[in-house]
Amino acid sequence: MSTLLIQGGLLVDTEWTRHADILIDGPKIVHVANKISEDSLPPGTEIISAEGLCVLPGLIDSHTHYHLVSRGTVTADSFAEGSELAAFGGVTTVIDFADDDKKGNLKACTKARIKEMQSGMAIDYTLHQGVYSYRPGIEKELKELKASGVRTIKLFTTYKNVGYLIEKREELTELFKECKKLDMMVCVHCEDDALVTKINDEWKGTYTPADHAEMRPAEVEAKGIETVASIAKEQNMRLYVVHLSSKAGLQVVRKYREMGTDIVVETTPHYLFLDKTKLKGKDGSLYVMTPPLRTHEDNLALQEALINGEIQVVATDHCSFTRDQKLESNDCRSILPGIPGTEEMFALLHTFAYEHGVLGISQLVNLMSTGPAKIFGLYPQKGSLQVGSDADIVLYDPDETWELTEKELHSASGYTPYEGHQVTGRVKSTYLRGRLVMSEDVYLGIPGDGLFVPQDKKHLDEIYWQ
Ligand SMILES: [Zn+2]
Repeated sequence: MSTLLIQGGLLVDTEWTRHADILIDGPKIVHVANKISEDSLPPGTEIISAEGLCVLPGLIDSHTHYHLVSRGTVTADSFAEGSELAAFGGVTTVIDFADDDKKGNLKACTKARIKEMQSGMAIDYTLHQGVYSYRPGIEKELKELKASGVRTIKLFTTYKNVGYLIEKREELTELFKECKKLDMMVCVHCEDDALVTKINDEWKGTYTPADHAEMRPAEVEAKGIETVASIAKEQNMRLYVVHLSSKAGLQVVRKYREMGTDIVVETTPHYLFLDKTKLKGKDGSLYVMTPPLRTHEDNLALQEALINGEIQVVATDHCSFTRDQKLESNDCRSILPGIPGTEEMFALLHTFAYEHGVLGISQLVNLMSTGPAKIFGLYPQKGSLQVGSDADIVLYDPDETWELTEKELHSASGYTPYEGHQVTGRVKSTYLRGRLVMSEDVYLGIPGDGLFVPQDKKHLDEIYWQ
């Protein structure tokens, strides 16, 4: 095993930043001190200067869809491509999704997805398991799922047409109860299916990309959140809202939090920084995802919520299709939904924080590394620069300015929704468990090197807000 000393960087944890040295032995961090003497090192130790750089714990994108087979096709970024672009973005762990085949064995669904990911992933990963029906014996399924290392489930309050919706409130409630009993997290994609259907049925307009935003307006999200937040309130349990996109949705979250309901909120860079005017031009299809982009006012409301600590996680919902796949249709009923984002995530958030003089780098680390690690039971193995943690380390130049362009980025989609955005801060090197996977624009990841990380202990209470 090799040893590595990273010298003189600004170590960033969620509670502190300090100039210090960090010693790595094999896959783990073994020593952190203001100054580690070179004389004390074993022969052959590699020494890296991080002078002028921030040293961050590897970032976590807790919402990705790499190699998603959907609507008869597959996303542009498979596991190998996803790992590569993630490494360039400083992301060393992703949380992807396993579908529910409804055959009564959730653990088998998780296992099957892990098997698919194993040979392609060059960074670490864990999973959220979808649950698309309530059925006899689900309690046992959930128990086995948890024992296999996955303790978050993902539900939808929409997509009845593709069989994802659990429609009956009693059934949803039972599922929530089971998860509470097992201390598992319920994550929900919140859009009210009945309202979507009603709007669709009454729709007299066209079906352009821009119409997609009008057919799934913010009220749809607000109503979806209302349904699941009210169940969480009744059951006095935690709820995780994935990809919050609107001010109306945020207001429902606030209402339930005021009543004491424990809601963790995730949003994405696109809901923070892009608005629905993007859907207008000839490339409108490139910006179609669900929920759709909202107004600039929604962006501002989410930005404010982020600054105020009302949002706990920034993730991307990275679900990329190539330009050609996206532009194949201009009809919002058939445009493949989803955009890339993992690689751009940290640079966009860092730039926002820097330009507005809000959110220190520690808080950014909390939103995109330590926080998700604690929430999803990966901490302190992930999301930390403590002795004993995995040596997932990002060397970050906080001052370099550059432009996000398709050419600079690595998604196989061939485009970035943030084309032309000027950003401040750039990942210089990324280490996964002590091994360099990206440095100075050279990718060194090895497909198959990524490991499944079981979700274990809970540390959410440590970071919880009031
Ligand atoms: Zn998603």
